[in-house]
Amino acid sequence: MSQSAYQVSPRELGTLLPDQPSYRVDQLREWLYEHPVLDPADMTNLPGDVRNTLRLWPFAAEIEQSADGGRTRKWLFRAPDGASIESVLMGYERRTTLCISSQAGCAMACTFCATGQFGFERHLDAGEIVAQVAYANAALRSRPIAGSPARVTNVVFMGMGEPLANYTNLRESLHRMIEVIDLAARSVTVSTVGVIPGIRRLADEPWQIGLAISLHAADDELRNTLIPLNTRYPLAELVEAARYFFNRTGRRVSIEWTLMDGVNDTADQAEKLASIAQQLRAHVNVIAMNPTPLTAQQAPGRLAIDDFMKELSRHGANATYRETRGQEIDAACGQLRIRGLTEEGET
Ligand code: SF4
Repeated sequence: MSQSAYQVSPRELGTLLPDQPSYRVDQLREWLYEHPVLDPADMTNLPGDVRNTLRLWPFAAEIEQSADGGRTRKWLFRAPDGASIESVLMGYERRTTLCISSQAGCAMACTFCATGQFGFERHLDAGEIVAQVAYANAALRSRPIAGSPARVTNVVFMGMGEPLANYTNLRESLHRMIEVIDLAARSVTVSTVGVIPGIRRLADEPWQIGLAISLHAADDELRNTLIPLNTRYPLAELVEAARYFFNRTGRRVSIEWTLMDGVNDTADQAEKLASIAQQLRAHVNVIAMNPTPLTAQQAPGRLAIDDFMKELSRHGANATYRETRGQEIDAACGQLRIRGLTEEGET
């Protein structure tokens, strides 16, 4: 099968149109990145034979779900080799945020994460990563979210996969988002469970993108049980790398904390987390665990959540509890994939 147009670098798009004048290549680039459309037939200024032969998307949208009164949309895309890719679009008053995947599956095996329980399928290439943004923009163009910008304004790498374990493709996708789609670097956030060499490389890139550390535990003893990578890159080294990122980019990192009942919702964890957050001058985003059939952990009750937030505040942390979006549509990463596999009888 021919390559999707997104799997060809924007600089090399001419290879897809060898018999066409160069302005056709510019037109194609604009359709792909500036005004994407779901169907090549809608690329109205390109000749019919180009539209008929172009392979536009590197995947097919297999499932689309909607929740929160249409303000949250989730896609499960399927690549021709069977790899699954999930994206979640969330509309707010002043921004439209897309959560994207960087890998099919994930090798990190975090015990609280549905994706981690499947293991690693493969890296997504840069085209498959950036096409998630273009697809969402094309979908918004034909069906905007009422009351939200009709274009993706913010991108977070918080879907399936550990982006810093797929650095080359991550870098190329960032390049295209920032320099070709023209997304503000500051509105793109890469989330990591702590791939320290990747954090340092990202800090040395020319873009002021955001970094979110998925911390979830504030000492090595607990973190080793939740995030196996912590045994390789322990907490003190992770904090040091986050500090390096802050010093190099001038951007404060944020800390992500998925609250799990009886696991990391204790006063002791809150105190240690507050100390780390203060060292990094980081903001802490707390969400409750979204349980899945594959994970043992559960969400704490409302009282435990309130107590944890009070403890954080008492110890001086700058923290926000965020309600999770799209609970009725399996919006935690990897959950659509679980559903697909369960329905196919594979789990
Ligand atoms: S939490 Fe992130 S890094 Fe950990 S297994 Fe899930 S996708 Fe991978």
